[in-house]
Amino acid sequence: MSLTSLKQTLKHTLTRCPSCHHDVPGEVWKTTGTPAKVYLSRTCPDHGETTVCISSDARFYWLAQGNPSNSCGAGCACSAGGGIDGTLGKNAHPTDSSTEVLSTCLALIEIVDSCNLACPTCFADSPVGASAAKLKDHPFDSLIARIRGVLDRKGRIEILQLSGGEPTLHPEFFRLLDWIHDEPRIDYCLVNTNGVRIAKEDAFLQQLGERARRGHLQLYLQYDGPQEAGQKELRGSDLRTMKQLTMERCEAEKIPFTLAMTVTDHNLPHLGATIEVGLGFQACRGVSFQPMFRSGRNALEETAILNTADIILGSVGQSQGRLRFEDFTPLPCGDPNCATIGYLLRTPIGVRSISEFIDFASVQGFLRDKVRYELADLIQCGCENTELGDILHRFEMKEKDAFRLFIKPFMDSWTWDQDRIDRCCTHVIRPDGKLDSFCRYYSPQPSSSC
Ligand code: SF4
Ligand code: SF4
Ligand SMILES: [Zn+2]
Repeated sequence: MSLTSLKQTLKHTLTRCPSCHHDVPGEVWKTTGTPAKVYLSRTCPDHGETTVCISSDARFYWLAQGNPSNSCGAGCACSAGGGIDGTLGKNAHPTDSSTEVLSTCLALIEIVDSCNLACPTCFADSPVGASAAKLKDHPFDSLIARIRGVLDRKGRIEILQLSGGEPTLHPEFFRLLDWIHDEPRIDYCLVNTNGVRIAKEDAFLQQLGERARRGHLQLYLQYDGPQEAGQKELRGSDLRTMKQLTMERCEAEKIPFTLAMTVTDHNLPHLGATIEVGLGFQACRGVSFQPMFRSGRNALEETAILNTADIILGSVGQSQGRLRFEDFTPLPCGDPNCATIGYLLRTPIGVRSISEFIDFASVQGFLRDKVRYELADLIQCGCENTELGDILHRFEMKEKDAFRLFIKPFMDSWTWDQDRIDRCCTHVIRPDGKLDSFCRYYSPQPSSSC
C-alpha cells in the first residue's frame, strides 16, 4: 500500500517551494498506523511536488492555525513607517507588517556580520573576518537606536539576544553589555557565541565574568556534542577541545551558559551524551536543540530533515530512563509546534525529571508569553501545594538547579508553515529597526527566474 493511500488531511496552509522559494499552497496530512507520521506536501507549478515529514510521531505535532488577529490593526507600531537607515537587511521581506503586533518573547539583533569561524552550515551566511580590517560590525549608536525603537513601541524586551556573525568580536561588546544591563526595560541578555574568544583570551574571559556575575546574562554556546561524528560537517573542523576549554573556563568564572546544539542525522544519536556533558557543569543551564534548517549557507543538503519528534524520541531513548515523554511540553505563546521545553532538576538525591513532581501541562497557562522560565516561576505557578513545591523549598533550590531542555525547530522552505509565522514570537530586529520573524528573516528570497 502506498503512503498516500493511508493519508488523512489535517489542514491546508501556505508553504514554499524548496527550489524557487515562492509561496505555494500546502497540505498537512498524517498517516494512519503507529506511530502516525505528519507530512507537508506542496506542488510548485515550475518544480513539481515536494513532500517532507514534519513530525516523525504525530503525538508531538499540534494542529494549530494562524491567528487572524495578528493582521495589522490600528495603533500597529509598524505603521510608524521608515527604517532608521532605510535598508531592509540581507533578506528584504516586505510582507512582515503583522510581526510588530505579535508578542515578542525574544528579540535578536545581529551586532557583527563577520565571524572568526567559517562553518559550512551557517544560517547567517557570515563571511570570515575577525581582523580589524575585515570585521563588519554595526556601530554602537545604530544598535542602541534600533533597540530603543523596539522598547518604545513594545514597552519592554524580555530577552534580547546578541547574535552575528560572532557577536563577541564587536569592538564595543562590553559597552553594549553595560548599556543593556543598565536599561531597565530589558530583562535578560543572551549572547550567541562559538566560544573562541572565551577559550583563547584571558582578559576577555575576565571581563565577561564580571558582567555575567551581575546577573541577567547568559551565553548560548554553540556545541555540537561530545562525539566525533558530524563535527567537521557542521563546523569545517573538529573543535571539541576548544569547546571543552570554553565550558571549563565559563564554569571557573561562573558564567552561565546553555549549550546550543545544531542537530543533524550525524549527531542525533548523541543527544543524551550532550545532556550529560551539560549536567557536568554547574554553570550549564541546559541544552537547546535546533534541528538543522536549510537557510543561509548550507553544505549538508543531503542530510535528513529532522523535527521536534526526532529530538524528543532521541533524547528520551538515549537517557537511560532519566527522561520521559511527559517531561516535554509545547510552549503556548506562539504556535505550539515552534518551541518545546522540558526540565531536569538537580537535587541532592540526584538528577530527577520534572514530570516526577508536576503535571507540566497544568502550568501552561502560567507559562504563556514566556520563553525564559526560572524555578521561581514554577514556584509561583500554584504548585506550592504540590510535591514539586515541597521539593523546591525543602532543598532550597535555585535557578542553577534547573536544567532546561529546549527544542527550537526553525523553519526553511521545506518545512515552511505560514500558520507558524502568523504567530511567531521570536523576532529579529532588522537593520531598518523593524521586527521580523526569525524564520522569515533568514529564509532565502524567492528566485526571480520563475
Ligand atoms: S554558524 Fe556561527 S560560528 Fe559558524 S560561521 Fe556562522 S556565525 Fe560563525
Ligand atoms: S522564529 Fe520560526 S520557529 Fe520560532 S516562533 Fe517564529 S515561526 Fe516559530
Ligand atoms: Zn518552485
